Amino acid sequence: VDASFTRIHEVEDEVKAFITLNEEEARRQAKELDEQLGENASILYGMPIGIKDNIVTKGLRTTCASQILDNLHDPLYDATVIEKLNKEKTVTIGKLNMDEFAMGSTTENSSYAKTRNPWNTDYVPGGSSGGSAAAVAAGEVFFSLGSDTGGSIRQPASFCGVVGLKPTYGLVSRFGLVAFASSLDQIGPITRTVEDNAHLLQAIVGHDKMDSTSAHVEIPNYADALKQDARGLRIAVPKEYLQEGVNPEVKEAVLQALKQYEELGATWEEVSLPHSKYAVAAYYLLASSEASANLSRFDGVRYGKRTEKRVDMLDMFKYSRAEGFGDEVKRRIMLGTFALSSGYYDAYYKKAQKVRTLIKQDFEKIFEDYDVIIGPTSPTTAYKIGEKIDDPLTMYADDILTTPVNLAGLPGISVPCGFSSEGLPIGLQIIGKHFDEAMVYRAAYAYE
Ligand code: GLN
Repeated sequence: VDASFTRIHEVEDEVKAFITLNEEEARRQAKELDEQLGENASILYGMPIGIKDNIVTKGLRTTCASQILDNLHDPLYDATVIEKLNKEKTVTIGKLNMDEFAMGSTTENSSYAKTRNPWNTDYVPGGSSGGSAAAVAAGEVFFSLGSDTGGSIRQPASFCGVVGLKPTYGLVSRFGLVAFASSLDQIGPITRTVEDNAHLLQAIVGHDKMDSTSAHVEIPNYADALKQDARGLRIAVPKEYLQEGVNPEVKEAVLQALKQYEELGATWEEVSLPHSKYAVAAYYLLASSEASANLSRFDGVRYGKRTEKRVDMLDMFKYSRAEGFGDEVKRRIMLGTFALSSGYYDAYYKKAQKVRTLIKQDFEKIFEDYDVIIGPTSPTTAYKIGEKIDDPLTMYADDILTTPVNLAGLPGISVPCGFSSEGLPIGLQIIGKHFDEAMVYRAAYAYE
């Protein structure tokens, strides 16, 4: 914990990964843990961890990087994942920056600072869990938690050269995760290594009665899965994942990784995910629709900021939301409200749900014959700060390789697989069957 804060004080002025630091309390806890250290301490005992700021932490400010929650200084409860980490005795170092309400791919939509990519501070760290990835890459914390609705753990992990896993939908409780798109959101671990990642996942999984979508499944020992090597592994490589639009250096790095898998005794074949080209359109319709409903609770009445204008009740709602939400969040709410309005529902929302089913079936077919699917995490490496922020459509389009995984509810990991000529990290994405995180880790660890 000491080392963590020393590093934070060295680099945080530049990296800006945190919205809130928990220094006094973290140091107090660390001291207490030193005194209590026993023989049966968990592997995560005393480990400094950073938490994305859309995960509720009791007594520790939780803002979702939004002005509308700027004054939420003292949340009344812990998210289930935090309760689980408390049992392992990790130490929360602070709350990490993100795109407002997890909407974005660069962390530039934060209403606080712009987080910078530790590999080159002219570049974005990715998003929306940009703070979570940057803090790990900069050595500010060993571990962090992010959330992934449409790539927000894997893409920043890829941009920052760290390991990030989006678990199978339902494996990790969403209780206490501020909802963006409830049918897609999952919390997951971001770490330096695959092994660390497996240990952190182990600590946060399991059925939770507070989340009705939480699955009843048997939990394997993920660290055990790392003992198996890549021999006999059957890898599928979707041709759509290496098509034009994917940066040549990214493609080359992925092909190199596949060569390495061959040397390790795995085999790979080209397959097709024919409906993945519709994933971005379906994702933005569904995610925005769900967001428009979920974000209706921010009305200035129950919690969060209320306008200071002296207006009547209806205008109080309107002004509170107009002042509290940023541009991207408003764009999504309008898009979602439109897609759900009567007369348009069948044409947009219902159609997107059908596309979602087709995408899921594409994956199911491939998994009849293969253990994992491998491709790039993102078509590009990190963007320059400011490069894409005024062009949301191009930015959305870059979610083409991550969103299919959310729509199908599958687990996916991003592991580092080299650097571009500019010295920016490239990420390899490994996708598994539902609840087969063990296989995903096995494949990732063998490569790493
Ligand atoms: N780029 C995606 C979006 O803006 C990422 C969302 C996420 O996974 N939280 O919706």
